[in-house]
Amino acid sequence: LVVMKDVNKHFGDLHVLREINLTIHEGEVVVVIGPSGSGKSTLCRTINRLETVESGTITIDGQPLPEEGKGLAKLRAEVGMVFQSFNLFAHKTILENVTLGPIKVRNTKKSQAESRAKELLERVGVAHQAAKYPAQLSGGQQQRVAIARSLAMEPKVMLFDEPTSALDPEMINEVLDVMIDLADGGMTMVVVTHEMGFARRAADRVVFMADGEIVEQAEPEEFFTNPQSNRAKDFLGKIL
Ligand code: ATP
Ligand code: MG
Repeated sequence: LVVMKDVNKHFGDLHVLREINLTIHEGEVVVVIGPSGSGKSTLCRTINRLETVESGTITIDGQPLPEEGKGLAKLRAEVGMVFQSFNLFAHKTILENVTLGPIKVRNTKKSQAESRAKELLERVGVAHQAAKYPAQLSGGQQQRVAIARSLAMEPKVMLFDEPTSALDPEMINEVLDVMIDLADGGMTMVVVTHEMGFARRAADRVVFMADGEIVEQAEPEEFFTNPQSNRAKDFLGKIL
């Protein structure tokens, strides 16, 4: 579904993505881990073109990423992204947060967008909060609304960049449970996370990055019990 070929990117002198080759199949859940500064966020951000690349190609469903304009809005709808900070529209209700994209970008009728939004809010467990504003919800609830908002666009793939890192510990699981539910439902997902329990439970593949490179990738059991590279061994030694 997503194919990255020989992708390179610099920030000034820093070679932040080095010859990245990564294929994400439909329905696959890929967990990306690695030390701070290894390029995990940048990798995610190139897939929905929040960052441009200098060389190499990225295709989704065989189509190269659009350069600008209308194509870009469509791409951002097809590639949902959930960040560490929830980025909800503060002055809109929870329901409006979820209906806005479909109405503006997908030209969905308001009534239809609302009934779909209610289903999604139900699915992520915040249906009874629909009339409230983001500041009235807990962090975990806000992040679940952010997930529902992305899903409302009917994305082909969902990117998650440390979605639970800003949450109090007791709220982490309620967000991970929604993500596990999505994964079990067949959503194609790329997840940057330090939650190794999630990786073991939901990932089809773990991709380990260091210094802008994909150093190794394997099924979770294989990766966690038998990492090949010294850098992966070293990293796992620090976090497990
Ligand atoms: P973390 O685990 O801390 O989130 P990461 O693996 O997500 O790290 P990135 O955010 O992709 O790492 O950053 C990779 C490198 O690129 C870092 O050294 C970072 O400082 C640098 N970098 C990221 N964004 C920019 C930018 N817009 N301009 C300049 N340098 C950047
Ligand atoms: Mg990051």
